[in-house]
Amino acid sequence: DSFDAMGLQENLLRGIYAYGFEKPSAIQQRGIVPFIRGLDVIQQAQSGTGKTATFCSGILQQLDYSFVECQALVLAPTRELAQQIEKVMRALGDYLGVKVHTCVGGTLVREDKRILESGVHVVVGTPGRVFDMLRRQYLRPDSIRMFVLDEADEMLSKGFKDQIYDIFQLLPPKIQVGLFSATMPPEALEITRKFMNKPVRILV
Ligand code: AMP
Repeated sequence: DSFDAMGLQENLLRGIYAYGFEKPSAIQQRGIVPFIRGLDVIQQAQSGTGKTATFCSGILQQLDYSFVECQALVLAPTRELAQQIEKVMRALGDYLGVKVHTCVGGTLVREDKRILESGVHVVVGTPGRVFDMLRRQYLRPDSIRMFVLDEADEMLSKGFKDQIYDIFQLLPPKIQVGLFSATMPPEALEITRKFMNKPVRILV
């Protein structure tokens, strides 16, 4: 039960320890390894369990840093949560040179365009703005290999179902999906059935 035993790259471990984490939380112990093996993972966990670092580590481990195109997309229900995820991603990925951008409403579209076109590895955002960026082709989906839905139940209860489905349609078909949700309402189960491939299910 240590981060060292997970097979993470040295520069990711440095980021994790520099951030102040010493030992993985329960969800991190169970969730990081299947994710870095490329499996689809459903994690039923409340916030406060360390879920953010679970998927951030999983993404950071698997990015190809030799080219700067969006390879991972993370959706969250609110601007604040998206910005929080961006912070954790940047901090844990500090020694890897990760480039992250957050696409949320209430900010200038032309700034998003400029930053996306300058190149990033990871995009975090709320469904509405992310879909808008994909639709306008400022965000190119071709290299996206990982897709995380954080607080899926919250996103669905906020009415983001259609946008989430629209986003799935624009992403490459063979994509790794991580779904995090405190509860599993029927609409969340429907997403897992429609878009996930033999998901591993972890309940914390
Ligand atoms: P989250 O569930 O991702 O919102 O995380 C809840 C809180 O737990 C955050 O303040 C994290 O910084 C903290 N946290 C997450 N993982 C660990 C860990 N392995 N060791 C100590 N604190 C952690």
